[in-house]
Amino acid sequence: MRIRDIRTYPVTAPIAPDVQKTAAGNFPFVSALVVEVITDDGRSGWGEGLVRFGPQAGAAFVQQVLKPKLLGADPFEVERLWPEMARSVSGRAGGLVIESLSAIDIALWDLMGQSLGVPIHRLLGSTGRTHVAAYASSISWGPLEIALQQVDDTIALGFRLLKVKLGAPVEAALERAAALAERVAGRARLCADLNWAFDVADAQRLARGLAELDYFWLEEPIVPEDIEGYRLVAASSPIRLAAGESDFTARGAKDLIAARSVGVIQPDVARSGGITETRRIASLAHAFHVHYAPHVGFSGAICVAASLQLAAAMPNFLTFECMFFDNPLRDGMTRKPVGSARQLQNGELPVPQGPGLGIEVDRDALEALRARG
Ligand SMILES: [Mg+2]
Repeated sequence: MRIRDIRTYPVTAPIAPDVQKTAAGNFPFVSALVVEVITDDGRSGWGEGLVRFGPQAGAAFVQQVLKPKLLGADPFEVERLWPEMARSVSGRAGGLVIESLSAIDIALWDLMGQSLGVPIHRLLGSTGRTHVAAYASSISWGPLEIALQQVDDTIALGFRLLKVKLGAPVEAALERAAALAERVAGRARLCADLNWAFDVADAQRLARGLAELDYFWLEEPIVPEDIEGYRLVAASSPIRLAAGESDFTARGAKDLIAARSVGVIQPDVARSGGITETRRIASLAHAFHVHYAPHVGFSGAICVAASLQLAAAMPNFLTFECMFFDNPLRDGMTRKPVGSARQLQNGELPVPQGPGLGIEVDRDALEALRARG
């Protein structure tokens, strides 16, 4: 099996207004880069890179820089191809480079699984999980009435852990956190995502308040670059921190994990370096007794499927991020649903069991989602 061609599909879709306000703002649309790696024995492996606001640039990078390195290569030699792709920049690789590489890496794993006729979680070494615990993401930082209704709706769907978006100032965040906890009334557990809204001092104040309300984790209270800040917040806070969605590669996650600054590491497989590198991050976390909870966010069906495969394989997996509202990139790209809240049973999502990623991409839908211009 040799790589014969690589096709790229920058995709974009609108998101309903008001369902998902965060401290970092609203997202009126979502985008991603989908890649198709085609082999000489007629297979297509699918991958997705986060490349949130510039999927066309990611597509150009794949076509002009990565593809020439990959043509004729054996997809099973992913540990040789990964560093070769990362060396496309002379300095430390991150950003669009690693997000585009992530898409290729996921496609190579899809091809390996297809070629052997097994799902990726079995290639990785499975825990035997056919279903994985999932949490609702995310209760909006928009109008309170909408947030309260979302609490009721997500509990009715069967979620037992709900993530709520909070923001500055601390007083408003704590007031909202208390109102949501009161509405939940013991029917579920809550965790909070700040999307970098605070500095260290305010994060420490918020952490104390959330711990009193029995929140399960506090996610990204400060900017991801402030690694020492995470250590300070963690050391003084009676609640576990969660972070990692904004970082690239295992090197990016290493300091948060080794210092035990986070209790939950949240790499995004479409950003962190694909399945190869996300497995390294989760394994590193396991060695330090840190939980692994995949970040999925607004990503599409391929990222969701790859994350479900990892969730079924990693022993320190904790819970799966499931956006409870419609996302055309997740819900419209494959012939059968994957990672959708509508599939929830007893608070768990099914892991695709077919070969590779275990999904069938709908080519017509993919074309309809293609970013224009
Ligand atoms: Mg987050």
